[in-house]
Amino acid sequence: MEKNFDIEKLERYIIDNSLTYYIETYGCQMNAHDSEKISGILSSLGYSRAQDKDKADLVLFNTCCVRENAENKIYGNVGKMKQYKKHNEDMIVGVCGCMMQQKGVADDLFRMFPFVELAFGTTNMQDLPEMLYHIIFDKERIKLIEDDKIAEENVPMKRTPPPLSTVNIMQGCNNFCTYCIVPYVRGREHSRRIGDIITEVESLMKDGYREVMLLGQNVNSYGSEFDRVTFPMLLEEVAKTGIDRIRFMTSHPKDATLELFETMARHDNICNQLHLPVQAGSSRVLKAMNRRYTREDYLSLIKTLRSIIPDVVLSSDIMIGFPGETDDEFEETVSLMEEVRYDSAFTFVYSPRKGTPAAEMPDQIPEEIKQKRIMKIVALQNRITYESNLKDVGRSDRVLVEGKSSRDEGFIAGKTDGGKMVNLRGDISLVGQIIPVRIAEAKKTTLVGEIEGR
Ligand code: SF4
Repeated sequence: MEKNFDIEKLERYIIDNSLTYYIETYGCQMNAHDSEKISGILSSLGYSRAQDKDKADLVLFNTCCVRENAENKIYGNVGKMKQYKKHNEDMIVGVCGCMMQQKGVADDLFRMFPFVELAFGTTNMQDLPEMLYHIIFDKERIKLIEDDKIAEENVPMKRTPPPLSTVNIMQGCNNFCTYCIVPYVRGREHSRRIGDIITEVESLMKDGYREVMLLGQNVNSYGSEFDRVTFPMLLEEVAKTGIDRIRFMTSHPKDATLELFETMARHDNICNQLHLPVQAGSSRVLKAMNRRYTREDYLSLIKTLRSIIPDVVLSSDIMIGFPGETDDEFEETVSLMEEVRYDSAFTFVYSPRKGTPAAEMPDQIPEEIKQKRIMKIVALQNRITYESNLKDVGRSDRVLVEGKSSRDEGFIAGKTDGGKMVNLRGDISLVGQIIPVRIAEAKKTTLVGEIEGR
C-alpha cells in the first residue's frame, strides 16, 4: 500500500464517530495473543471495545485452520454478518489469522461474501491502520497477505487484565509434521531477541502481572538462528527477572533436553508443568507423522524428566486416526497413555488439511473407526485425570487466584504451580494473590480447595 495515508484524519474520524470494534478469536493461544495485539492497535487509534458483535463498527474474525470443523464454523459465522450489515451499512467486516495465509482462501472469501471488506495475514496486523483508512475514505476492499514477514516489535497490546499474560518468543515452525498446516500458514521459525523478551516481561511485572506464558509453536528450538542461544538460556534469564510464575508451550519432544529439565528444576518460579505432545504411541505412526522421535525415545525422555522433577504435572496432545493407523497401532497409543499417565491431555481426531502430505496418504481411516477410537481414549484420559486429581487431595499447594469461579457463586478460581485449576470459597479481592491452599476434593477435571490458615 503506497497510497495516501493520513493517520490523524483516521484517528479524528474514529474518535468523532465513537467507533467500536469486536474481535472473534478462534484456535490456539498464539491467536489469542495476536488478538490482544490487534485490540492494542485499534485502541491506540481511538476505537473502543464493543460488547456485542451486532453493535460493533468493525468486526474481525481471527481465524484458525488447524482443523476442518473450525474452518467450517468460521465460514458459517462470517456468513451470518450479512444480516448485521443490512442494519449498519458502515460496519466493516474483516477476516484475519491463519486461514488467510492459505493459498486462495482470502480470494474465495471475498467472492463468497461481497460484504467482507478486509482480509489480512498473521504478520500484517501492523498495517491495520492503513488498511482501515483506505476502506473508510477510499471505499476500497483490502486484502493484504504476505508470507514469511517478520512481526514488528513494539506493537501496542491490549492485554487481558493481570495476573496472567502471554509473551510470544518466536513465530513460525520448521518441523513440517505431515498432518500439520502451521508451517504453511505461520512461515519459518523466527525468534525474538532475548533483550526484547526480557523488557516485555519486566514491563508486565510493573503492570502487576504475576505469571507469564512464553509462547511459540516449538519453544525448544528458540534461538536456533542466533549463535549459542538456547531456550533454557532464555528461560534462565526470564526466571532471573523475578516474575512469580513462568510457563511455556509448546515443547516438541525431539528438542526437549536435559538442560531444559535442569533449568526448570533450578528455579522456583518456573512452574512444575510441561506440555509435551506425544501425538501417537506407535513408532511407525510417529515416523509417518515426521515427528522425529520413537515411542522409546519419548518414554525415555519422560523417565529423565521425572527423575529430575518428580512432581511435574504433565500434559500432551494425542491424535487418533492418522492415515494407516491400525488397531494395534492405536492400542500402542492407549498403552503409552497408561504408562505415562498424563495429568491431562488434548485428544483429537485426525482431520486432513489440504496441502499437507498426510492429506494425500492412502488408507484414510473411516469416520466410524475414528469415533470409536476417540471415545476410548477420552474415557481413558478422563479416568487418569480424575485419579491424578484424587492423589492431590490433602496436599498443600499455592494458588494464583485468577478470578471468579465460573462454577459456583461465592467461589474464586486459580491454578496450582503445576497448572491445575482449583475452585475455592473466597473473596474476589484475592484476585492476583498467590495463596496457600489445601486440596479438599477432586473433581473430574478440576480440584476444590480451602484457603490454609483460616
Ligand atoms: S511442531 Fe509439528 S505440530 Fe507443532 S506446529 Fe510445527 S509442524 Fe505443527
